[in-house]
Amino acid sequence: MNTSPCPICGGNREQGFTTFSADVDGRLFVARRVPASVCTQCGEEWIDNATAQELEQLANTAFAAKREVEIVAIVA
Ligand SMILES: [Zn+2]
Repeated sequence: MNTSPCPICGGNREQGFTTFSADVDGRLFVARRVPASVCTQCGEEWIDNATAQELEQLANTAFAAKREVEIVAIVA
């Protein structure tokens, strides 16, 4: 967990959740309740590398099933 000050505004970051979406080969992948650090001042969000890799795997798995839109919820 990266708790250093926000590189954009210098505000505090705290653990929170975000909604991640990505266009994967023209299809929409959405993940809800993705753990992220969120700046309390400007609202910028960061997803750590381990979580990003997990999202990538989820997207690949989802689209292997040939769905048009995949929405998943990550419960941390
Ligand atoms: Zn900030």
